[in-house]
Amino acid sequence: MNYTVKQIAEITNAKIIGDENLLIRNIAFDSRIIYSTKNTAFIAINTHKNSGEKFIESAVDRGIDVIISEHQYPGFEHITWIIVDNSVDFLQKLAQYHFENSHLKSIGITGSNGKTILKEWLYQCLWNEFPTVKSPKSFNSQIGLPLSLLQINNSYELGIFEVGISKPHEMEKLERIFHPQIGLLTHIGNAHAANFQSEEELIDEKIKLFKASEVIIYNGDNSLVSKKIHELYSTKKLISYGLKKDNQVFIKEDVSKDENITVVYIDEEISFPVHQRDEATLTNALALITVLKELKIDNLKIIEKINSLKAVEMRLEAIEGVKNNIVINDSFNLDLDSLKTALQFLNEYNKPKKSLVLTDIVGVNSNSKELYEEVSELVNDQNFDFVFLIGDEISKFSELFKAKTSTFVSTQELIDSKRLTEIENQIILLKGARKFEIEKLKDILELRKHDTVLEINLNAILHNINYHKSLLKPGTKMMAMVKANAYGLGSYEISEFLQHHHIDYLGVAYADEGVELRKKGITTPIVVMNPEQHSYEAIIEYNLEPEIYSFRVLELFYEAVQKSGYDKKYPIHIKLETGMHRLGFKDFELDELSETLSHKNVKVQSLFSHLSSSDVPEEKEFTYKQLEVFEKNSSYLIEKLGYTPIRHILNSSGITSYTDHQYDMVRIGIGMLGESPNSEIQKQLQSVVSFKTVISQISIVSSGESVGYSRKYKPDHATKIATIPVGYADGIPRLIGNQVGNVGVHKILAPIVGNICMDMMMINVDQIPNVKEGDTVTVFNAKPSLKEFAGYCKTITYEVLTSISPRVKRIYIKD
Ligand SMILES: *Cc1c(COP(=O)(O)O)cnc(C)c1O
Repeated sequence: MNYTVKQIAEITNAKIIGDENLLIRNIAFDSRIIYSTKNTAFIAINTHKNSGEKFIESAVDRGIDVIISEHQYPGFEHITWIIVDNSVDFLQKLAQYHFENSHLKSIGITGSNGKTILKEWLYQCLWNEFPTVKSPKSFNSQIGLPLSLLQINNSYELGIFEVGISKPHEMEKLERIFHPQIGLLTHIGNAHAANFQSEEELIDEKIKLFKASEVIIYNGDNSLVSKKIHELYSTKKLISYGLKKDNQVFIKEDVSKDENITVVYIDEEISFPVHQRDEATLTNALALITVLKELKIDNLKIIEKINSLKAVEMRLEAIEGVKNNIVINDSFNLDLDSLKTALQFLNEYNKPKKSLVLTDIVGVNSNSKELYEEVSELVNDQNFDFVFLIGDEISKFSELFKAKTSTFVSTQELIDSKRLTEIENQIILLKGARKFEIEKLKDILELRKHDTVLEINLNAILHNINYHKSLLKPGTKMMAMVKANAYGLGSYEISEFLQHHHIDYLGVAYADEGVELRKKGITTPIVVMNPEQHSYEAIIEYNLEPEIYSFRVLELFYEAVQKSGYDKKYPIHIKLETGMHRLGFKDFELDELSETLSHKNVKVQSLFSHLSSSDVPEEKEFTYKQLEVFEKNSSYLIEKLGYTPIRHILNSSGITSYTDHQYDMVRIGIGMLGESPNSEIQKQLQSVVSFKTVISQISIVSSGESVGYSRKYKPDHATKIATIPVGYADGIPRLIGNQVGNVGVHKILAPIVGNICMDMMMINVDQIPNVKEGDTVTVFNAKPSLKEFAGYCKTITYEVLTSISPRVKRIYIKD
């Protein structure tokens, strides 16, 4: 969106106190996650449970200068207020106006199950066909939907929004603000949700979303749904899909393993690869195909797109367990339908013996005796060996279950009983309502496959970014450098997380790093620092923005742009040389540069340079000289260009040491990973990376014996030596063997003894009390810290991180 305060007030009949000419592009509703305050208004949302007004102060502290609220509060100077009668009505009114004036093609998804998966799949399939906007995660409520709609701007052509309701009459309100052209109705469960009298009432309410739709694509397996849609919407284009063969879109062959499935789409047949064959996945795939066909995507492309879909937080997760068990973790939600899906999923596995952990079903409005009778019938069909029931409700009906059944009041009680450790060679289904947190059981049952892991704490990255942000002015943008696989930590995982937290730009070294991110669905602007000639086409095709550092690159890249038929101004970033002597335009080239640029259909998105020594206190004078050259040369170019690109020069230690020179953007790298050369700053940052392994074996080596290749370590008394499974092939430099480096065991440093082997090394654990095989060893994190470890290696933290071998499993931690 893009409105002045005045326009917003006119659209919504609100009152303004303050500057009516301010421009608003974003509305934030949670003061803890305001990422950028520029052109952002904070809305204090009042619901019957909560008042957002108590967060106004913290929003203002963060730099917000426009507040939307039902009341004005004294004491906030220079703040512009938009005073509204009702905060939720306001949002809905604004969203309605915004949507109706957007000229967007829109898809609205509703139903009981599968909405989020379908939205994410559609997005993955369509974002590179049309610029596409979608609702974030599960933003589908009375507040979430309007906020999602407000993300629409002129650059989008397609919008995919999820619409969820939980009470009667909610859809009417939502349909008033959002009337999709294409309506998609996913599966509607038989177990009617709480708050509804009957299944019919629920269907009636949901299909109100399609009042103004041109096309309705619906799951026709539920005959009541079919009947209702035909009664109400017979004049619209209707397409039914589903597993029953009387739908217009269905699966022709019976599902058999290892082969494609043939889908009948109205009057044609198409073969598709499908890797997962549970009913829910197949049904969702049919819906996806139907929407793609409706959008005129050709069959070959559809097949290709389906092939490259990535799992969207698969609700059902199969994990290799201890004692040769397989664990199916489905602790996301629990109702009769999802229980059926999960039970069916079990049959995909070839294990004769099965056990089940099942909790109370919560939030369903029906007679519990009937409900649990139905549950027990489903469960009894499966011949489970053990059934573990958790919760007061379900426990009352334990005698309905035929298996060896035990009851527990809580998940913890089941853990404490140690009953799960009896299970061997089985498939174990964990099926529970959220509040029972049965995912805790997963930790106990899961086989630890990787002893050596690099653990990356995403929350710590966010903390570190916010710390650096707190030093900057509210409007300063931030680019995160994710080059070299995000300093070795995993480019996609880190970028996805940063995109979720609204980072302004990403920076990569090579085009292929950017292409990989785009292919996986990253839409944040990406700058390529080293655009190689052979990659120009890929850069253009994937909407990446090159760093232009010489006339040669400028000419060749521009040639590629023209050849590609790109007809708008291509965004580029001009690198100025200010003293690093790596890449960039020099003083004497500026006139020719501005002259050349003026003849080309490009847009200089930014002017930037790089500091060679922002982390070296002794080079302050030199750094100030670099900053001076940058100021002078960039100002000169801006004058010549006749417009003002954003400017940036600070890297992480630049942000902390030369904050005054932040210009419009900064580029953070090592700082977000929790490292600073300045010990005071270091204290404020959180450690992100932890390289861990476990002790494989402990031996006592006597005097006269030796350890490792070439007998480099010969203890002079009987010494406890532990072997750990990391070596130089994992990225530990061989030069830190022979007591140069240490690792941490029980928070005590243990010296590396003897030569480091390819996949293992030995450490002296003589001084460590109670040490035993299987204990965790910290290669670096706290003791030793990453910095200390880099010290052993006689290098910098950057090189340590980027040297860790890809075979070390990366694990991401997030609350
Ligand atoms: C890598 C890089 C950065 C980030 O540097 P840090 O020291 O990790 O903050 C910034 N700018 C450019 C051009 C870079 O290549």
